[in-house]
Amino acid sequence: FFIALEGGDGAGKSTQAEALAEWIRAKGHEVVVTREPGATPVGKRLRSILLDVSSAGLSHRAEALLYAADRAEHVDTVVRPALERGAVVISDRYIDSSVAYQGAGRDLSPTEVSRINRWATHGLVPHLTVLLDVAPETARERFTEAPDRLESEPAEFHARVRSGFLTLAAADPGRYLVVDAAQEPEAVTTVIRHRLDVVLPL
Ligand code: C5P
Repeated sequence: FFIALEGGDGAGKSTQAEALAEWIRAKGHEVVVTREPGATPVGKRLRSILLDVSSAGLSHRAEALLYAADRAEHVDTVVRPALERGAVVISDRYIDSSVAYQGAGRDLSPTEVSRINRWATHGLVPHLTVLLDVAPETARERFTEAPDRLESEPAEFHARVRSGFLTLAAADPGRYLVVDAAQEPEAVTTVIRHRLDVVLPL
């Protein structure tokens, strides 16, 4: 069973990934918590290229392809093998991050960004995608470290990313759960657990 956590920076994805993993493990399932970009050795190198300030001005198409390359390696070497042995996989970001950031955030066509990612992943789609939705201004208050290259983008960029995610969620309500991530983390976890109680095979 494949769960993707999506949302803007500071929405609380990694906190929720850990909380959900603990709860699902307690039910007796193997859980693999992973993330994009940077879950594999090559992915870590791609992540440092993508987030380094020296990459400011990187071509938007090159950026989209580097995220897709990270994802291809991640799916082939981490996600698919885990799913094949029956584990629950929780990924902090997946394809919808590319559609929202490189598509809606930049000037690329969301349809084309989806298409290259479908190819990169052999069409692997999560069973459930949880969108942790929060206003960028609220999320920003949660940053504990200096913002990386993307986090330093202007407010309008993050507003476009947020609406890009909401558009994706509205188009596919069966796969998506949208949660108000301005709530306390425990309240967010409870909402997600209720949905998983329904959809997660025992
Ligand atoms: O979620 P995490 O903080 O690991 O993401 C790293 C950075 O990459 C974030 O600043 C995020 O905004 C950016 N990102 C992006 N496009 C993606 C995925 C992440 O710009 N497809």
